[in-house]
Amino acid sequence: MSEIIDLSHTLEPGMQVYPGDPTFSCSPAASIAKDGYAVCSLSLGSHTGTHVDAPAHFFANGQTISEIPLSTFMGRAVVVDLTRKSARQVISWDDLALYAPRMVPGAILLLHTGWSRYWGTDEYLEHPFLERAATENIIATGIRVVGVDTLSPDETRVDGKGSFGAHEVILGAGGIIAENLTNLHAIAADPEYFVHLVPLKIDACDASPVRAYGLKNIYKEHTSTIMS
Ligand SMILES: [Zn+2]
Repeated sequence: MSEIIDLSHTLEPGMQVYPGDPTFSCSPAASIAKDGYAVCSLSLGSHTGTHVDAPAHFFANGQTISEIPLSTFMGRAVVVDLTRKSARQVISWDDLALYAPRMVPGAILLLHTGWSRYWGTDEYLEHPFLERAATENIIATGIRVVGVDTLSPDETRVDGKGSFGAHEVILGAGGIIAENLTNLHAIAADPEYFVHLVPLKIDACDASPVRAYGLKNIYKEHTSTIMS
């Protein structure tokens, strides 16, 4: 049986965004009552909701979101259990080393802190974060896609004094970061899940919202349908 798990937050007015980022709106540009059909005008930052960061987010000559090959955004999920972590606690290599045998090129490393349960609250900003040295070890395994169920893999500080070690290391290696994932618990225990984090093909942009999801057995089922 195929299973699809939605790993995305809903885009809606009033939703939480990174401190200082543009807010989300979806307002009618045409309506069925007035025009006979509905069209919405969207306004949002490139890092709104569940989204991926391209290298161009931190590097002027880095790849933009539309330049990254589609295949980069799909891969077998390696979900690391970090649900024991508390507010603003550092995630070090010691927390990840157990999963190192599964960290191979093409895999997608997902850090499951469980922090998505705080989505929309002040506590969401207090998430655990990844140490630079641990990020360097992740990149050394060949992994180029790292996803988090938090606002950022780096510490979120509203005083502007934060550092961006994880962003610099991953994006500096030509990798991508998925942020604000949710429901990671639903795919955590099963190494059979593939994840898709496919962004919109926006020209010259540093990031894009995505509809992130995990799926398993779907290819097998489709193949058997075609063959029968
Ligand atoms: Zn981002």
